[in-house]
Amino acid sequence: MGAFLDKPRTEKHNLHDEGNGLRYGLSSMQGWRVEMEDAHTAVLGLPAPGMTDWSFFAVYDGHAGSKVANYCSKHLLEHIMSASLGTQGGSTDDPPALAPPTVENIKTGIRTGFLKIDEHMRSFSDLRNGMDRSGSTAVGILMSPEHFFFVNCGDSRGVLYRNSNVCFSTLDHKPCNPRERERIQNAGGSVMIQRVNGSLAVSRALGDYDYKCVDGKGPTEQLVSPEPEVYEMVRAPEQDQFIVLACDGIWDVMTNEELCEFVKSRLEVSDDLERVCNEVVDTCLHKGSRDNMSVVLVCLPNAPKVSEEAVRKDAELNKYMESRVEEMLSRPGEEGFPDLVAVMRSLSTDIGMPPLPPGGGLASKRSVIEAVYNRLNPYREEDGNGAELEYHW
Ligand code: MN
Repeated sequence: MGAFLDKPRTEKHNLHDEGNGLRYGLSSMQGWRVEMEDAHTAVLGLPAPGMTDWSFFAVYDGHAGSKVANYCSKHLLEHIMSASLGTQGGSTDDPPALAPPTVENIKTGIRTGFLKIDEHMRSFSDLRNGMDRSGSTAVGILMSPEHFFFVNCGDSRGVLYRNSNVCFSTLDHKPCNPRERERIQNAGGSVMIQRVNGSLAVSRALGDYDYKCVDGKGPTEQLVSPEPEVYEMVRAPEQDQFIVLACDGIWDVMTNEELCEFVKSRLEVSDDLERVCNEVVDTCLHKGSRDNMSVVLVCLPNAPKVSEEAVRKDAELNKYMESRVEEMLSRPGEEGFPDLVAVMRSLSTDIGMPPLPPGGGLASKRSVIEAVYNRLNPYREEDGNGAELEYHW
């Protein structure tokens, strides 16, 4: 788990689409970690009668390998669907009905789907015999035209931005939470250094079968539980703006409010959702995140729109910073040609600076700054290292 690269892998995986009255974009990046263990799902229109106007999005943060995260990204939805549809007649033997499931059926179906997929993966030989010890968090949202069903298992997080406020956020499942600690202790485990048995930092997850073999305890009473929390909400189309799902690589360095304010300010500058997500990921890297990063942004009909004023102000800010960097590099001080860290430090105390993007700060402009710096740096090495040494802006 703890292995890091000499410099981050910053290539991004992107996706976007629109339909069912919404638009989404996503971005994921390996960052400093040796492996990429995050995965995601984005489905517009569910493949079931009466559910083509439903959608599903999820982020999975794998640990100790990517197998469980990858498998869930491909199959969790089908487990949820068959459990939700199968319960409609009151018995799982009934054929699926033609109407969409009720709110209660969905809530039960989500829970059952999680328990079923967890039980199913346990039969895979490598997961069973311990050759693969991977596990994964899952945070998702299932949306009908009337409802949001936020689903969480672990310490990834989903938030809803409504009326220009963070109106809802899922709660992380950390071993220190009283309820989680109680379950862990009842299963004969302990919480040390905020970890399950001093080792695993998350108290609910799919996979992680090493932590799910306490005799005499059911699947939701183990040291690590695959049981999701489901939060159902009635949609408010006039007020709902966007939803963000992200792994802890994002939330480690940004609060709910910071991320939402940043996303809002970026949506006023660009309607390219992949670009907005890429800016989130880059900003988190520059704020010091050392983890894999994944973010899914779902824009609802009332999402912030591009405003000419915001576009103009952003262009002015970029221009201001470019000219400041040019100025600094054109007349080097006593210490000689400044490195990028010195340039960032100087900009961070610049009193003439126009307002920086809320929640993003100078870190969100590092790419702009770095581009000018590299263009003007006569000592630049081809692989541009040196400048990568410090990443906390
Ligand atoms: Mn993570």
